[in-house]
Amino acid sequence: MSTPILVAGPCAAETREQLLTAAEQIALLPLAKDGCVRLFFRAGIWKPRTSPRSFQGVGDIGLEWLQEVRERYGLKTATEAGTAEQARKAAAAGVDMLWIGSRTSANPIAVQEIADNIEGINTIAVKNPMHEDSELWAGNIERVRQRAKEVWAVHRGCRHKPCWQMAYRLTSAMPDIPLLLDPSHMSGDAAKVENLCRKAESLGYNGYMIEVHPNPKEALSDARQQITPAELQEYTRPDKFNSRRDELDWLRCEIDEADDEIWQAISRRMDVSRRIGEYKHTRNMQIVQPDRFNKVLNRRLKWAEENGIASLTVEKIMNALHEESIHRQEI
Ligand code: PEP
Ligand code: MN
Repeated sequence: MSTPILVAGPCAAETREQLLTAAEQIALLPLAKDGCVRLFFRAGIWKPRTSPRSFQGVGDIGLEWLQEVRERYGLKTATEAGTAEQARKAAAAGVDMLWIGSRTSANPIAVQEIADNIEGINTIAVKNPMHEDSELWAGNIERVRQRAKEVWAVHRGCRHKPCWQMAYRLTSAMPDIPLLLDPSHMSGDAAKVENLCRKAESLGYNGYMIEVHPNPKEALSDARQQITPAELQEYTRPDKFNSRRDELDWLRCEIDEADDEIWQAISRRMDVSRRIGEYKHTRNMQIVQPDRFNKVLNRRLKWAEENGIASLTVEKIMNALHEESIHRQEI
């Protein structure tokens, strides 16, 4: 198997000192020295933020700081481009890898313009779009592939959740494109990064892109999801990467993802039941109302028939849900 890829560094370059400290701490880690990963130091300098009032990145000056990182610590550098002009500037400043972020990835015109302006940059990483669309992701990779020597796909999920099916579709359609997992944006939570690193290794990914900050709590963007350099060393296990993508492992991830959704929906349903219980209580109404339950059940039985699910299964599940709802209303 080829050497795993690790793209690590802060969400954003904030000050020269912050960037050099992050780079120095990463460069000193054992993983940077033992040759077990192809290491790239990342930092966004033009940040595509939701609100114009948020930190927008330091802009062009960040390119000079990234040059300094390369000269001082011998690290390869990476940044995000959202426009053709940014891509040209990054190329002129000698950035080694450019990534196309998930917001830009939603817009094929922007991706094409960037692809047409990447001369001088060897490696381009394409994140999945903000919404679940493996074909758009693949189309973006195709656009870039015609111009770049090396293209990677980065699975960063949608709305702080993985989209395993989207990633599996992409990697099945383009098996020769290295696939990286971005546990930081996928979870939005530093506490979940380690587990997602384990998934990347076991599912046959080719590397990770992880946000690392010398002092995550003080970060000007994505503070909740950034980890420290020491945690990066602890969480990543490049020697554990599986060389094979086994479809069963991916399908099991999809099952876990579906179960999470089911239980979140059940929990939402129970919360509504509790509020209904309060309503009934203040009006001295009966908790169990058989007419209402029969309506709910019949509607679901009709749906089950249309969707090929056994009516007995539907009845069992609906009765169990109803029983739990009654308990909630009694509290
Ligand atoms: C980033 O990597 O900092 C970033 C903005 O990522 P995404 O496009 O996945 O949100
Ligand atoms: Mn970020």
